[in-house]
Amino acid sequence: MSGEGTRDAGTRGRGDAETGDAGTGDVETAGIGPLSASPRPRVSASRPLLVQKFGGTSVANAERIRAAARRMVRTREQGYQVLAVVSAMGHTTDELIDLAQQVCERPDERELDLLLSTGETVSATLVAMALKGMGCPAISLTAAQAGIRTTRFFSRARITDIQPERIRKELAEDKVVIVTGFQGVTEDLDITTLGRGGSDTSAVALACALGAEQCEIYTDVVGVLTADPRLEPRARKLDRISYEEMLELAQLGAKVMHPRAVELGELYGMPIVVRSSFANTPGTVICRGEGMEVRKNVRGIAHDTDVAKITLAGVPDRPGIAYAIFAPLAEAGISVDTIVQTASIDGITDLSFTVSGSDLTRSFPLVQQVASRIGAATVDAADDLAKVSIVGTGMQSAPGYAARMFGALSEQGININMITTSDIRITCIIQRAQVQQAVQTLHAAFELDRE
Ligand code: ADP
Ligand code: ASP
Ligand code: MG
Repeated sequence: MSGEGTRDAGTRGRGDAETGDAGTGDVETAGIGPLSASPRPRVSASRPLLVQKFGGTSVANAERIRAAARRMVRTREQGYQVLAVVSAMGHTTDELIDLAQQVCERPDERELDLLLSTGETVSATLVAMALKGMGCPAISLTAAQAGIRTTRFFSRARITDIQPERIRKELAEDKVVIVTGFQGVTEDLDITTLGRGGSDTSAVALACALGAEQCEIYTDVVGVLTADPRLEPRARKLDRISYEEMLELAQLGAKVMHPRAVELGELYGMPIVVRSSFANTPGTVICRGEGMEVRKNVRGIAHDTDVAKITLAGVPDRPGIAYAIFAPLAEAGISVDTIVQTASIDGITDLSFTVSGSDLTRSFPLVQQVASRIGAATVDAADDLAKVSIVGTGMQSAPGYAARMFGALSEQGININMITTSDIRITCIIQRAQVQQAVQTLHAAFELDRE
């Protein structure tokens, strides 16, 4: 690997592709470079590097591609080296998935990843053409050419290693480099994808590997808002948010950032700026927390409509039952979210848990099999649910947030199905039809439309 003053981003990952997706962080971050609290070394002594990621709406048509290219040119003229990461144009990924399902009910996962990766290849090449047409030296690289290595978990691969020599070489030749987001390559050169919304993770990972000054996420909103503006038009833009709060919001459904991108940003101390690609406004900086005194109130509301619930009634209350129910789900790679068990009466309880709506068809038969084995009375499923959460580090130290949340929902006649909490969030499972009403109610109850 070349490069004076550069960090060793080519270090091999500790992660073991065969043993799998080891929870959060460790596989994905292992190969990107040494952790360091010291300032990130820059890619070139003279010119700092900016990574700019453009989401699907920001490259949705030829005019927007040209606008994105013009932004890169301006950034370059301001004295930066530019590494752009692009998503597929508009709804291309959805359309490709739909097409695959038309030819085969359950498409082969390797072929599906290779198919989906083409969406990003289309936009990367078009951006490169637009730049060259503007007289700006540029080159597009697929994630494989750019040295992004991943595990072999198709559709949910994790980055194990980035070998950025080719990117460095092209940047050193003064080109704007455009890399396809959302994907990587396995050791045996199969193309993988990182999961829906994964281009954010590609961008932050590259920014960390190359020691960029910051990673800019260009999207169709002005930044991170106090709620999804599609549900709450009064949502207000936040100037700053901590990695911790952003990670929680993202995991709870705020799809403005891919959760794994936020995790990586936090681990490497990489500032992430979420900005509009349609305006020249400063956006939201995702960075380290602000200190206890300035923390206040709830920072944001997240919602997720991809929630289904499975309930086993009349479950014998004895050791090993929870294991019997959840082990087959884990083996099938299905994540279980909220779990609630009622108090036992005469040695019998009810047990409910949530899975993502898309996992319900796979989960239900597995749970039915276990239910008959352990002697549970009934198994039911509900797929018309949603999750609404309040998030804020200020909640750790002040009581009363739960009461205020439950009170606000009950005043609107919104029934709470299940509740879970962590230090910095409270989540309620409610009927999907009431999710917008719940988001707006909570936004008002916690006065999020005010500074
Ligand atoms: P891109 O294609 O640029 O990656 P996404 O559609 O993945 O964009 O993410 C942007 C969308 O995230 C917004 O259009 C908005 O509807 C949604 N969103 C959800 N929660 C929030 C939030 N708290 N702040 C901003 N946007 C949010
Ligand atoms: N194109 C991919 C998707 O739609 C990745 C991304 O946009 O981040 O999920
Ligand atoms: Mg996105």
